[in-house]
Amino acid sequence: MERTGIILRGREFTPVEGRIVVDEEGRIEAIEEESIDAENADIILPAFVNAHTHIGDSIAKEAGGGLSLEELVAPPDGLKHRLLRAASRDELVAAMATSLEFMHRSGTAACLDFREGDVAGVEMLEEAVAAADGAVDALAFARGSVDAMDAGDGFGASGANDAEFGEERQATREAGKPFGIHAGEVDASDIDPALDLEPDFLVHMVHPEPDHLERIDDRNVPVAVCPRSNLVTGVGLSPYAELAERTTLALGTDNVMLNSPSMFREMEFLAKLSELSATEILRMATINGAELAGLDYGVIEPGREARLLVLDGESANLDGARELVRAVVRRAGVDDVREVIAAPEPDG
Ligand SMILES: [Zn+2]
Repeated sequence: MERTGIILRGREFTPVEGRIVVDEEGRIEAIEEESIDAENADIILPAFVNAHTHIGDSIAKEAGGGLSLEELVAPPDGLKHRLLRAASRDELVAAMATSLEFMHRSGTAACLDFREGDVAGVEMLEEAVAAADGAVDALAFARGSVDAMDAGDGFGASGANDAEFGEERQATREAGKPFGIHAGEVDASDIDPALDLEPDFLVHMVHPEPDHLERIDDRNVPVAVCPRSNLVTGVGLSPYAELAERTTLALGTDNVMLNSPSMFREMEFLAKLSELSATEILRMATINGAELAGLDYGVIEPGREARLLVLDGESANLDGARELVRAVVRRAGVDDVREVIAAPEPDG
């Protein structure tokens, strides 16, 4: 398989005019420069990795306007949990599958999903992936027992104020899987105990204090930030530039209940409210999320798995854009997607 266009290559997304060749196993075989009609060319970039989702609440889209974070999502009686209890298992799985289909169509190859409901919850995510034809690699960061972590792809802890997590942390390490934990979303009180667990990554970090920034810097603990979620729940916004100076940031859309799981929307929002460069934000939306989960894609280089997003550079929205990375991050949307190359094609 091959595709021609302007290829945003490597970690710097350097525009290369030419052809990308993908082998039968779905790996990038070559990037060949050749002259093309650049004015009318497609834009080829890595497909997105959504670094933090809860697609389990896809049945609750836009419920609970005006409620606080606690009223919305706190177990056991937050609105989300009441709506989840009221829905059948089939309804929940079908709604999750629909979210995965939309994520695929909007250019996402993988998501790191914090999955509630123990082993049964992991099984529901697997069913949703199958129902969506495997279009998105939805990784289950399971919650509950160590068995759930074994069944899933890692452990996703709710927060260090909720429980101890020492045993789960140790078991996850022994299984060679990543351990992520929410921290600093509402206030700073759960950040130090979360860092004491030596997590592979933190989620949110809206309220870090100078000591926390130093600890993150010392241990290079990556952070998945979720700007739109933090805005709609009223907890504030992370100090993105200060965090980015100290560690790797990745980007997530968080609860489907609160936000459409479109990485285009998340990138645009972050680009326009922060000082981060478009290149940095595109990295957050691709390679940085991939690295949190140990995925081999998120960057276009020979030898890597090909998970690619092809945008129509001639669309009415993108036509004439002068800086492609800026245009992708700040302007592009699902309507500009020509093709998403998500999984290896059986016949190459
Ligand atoms: Zn979360």
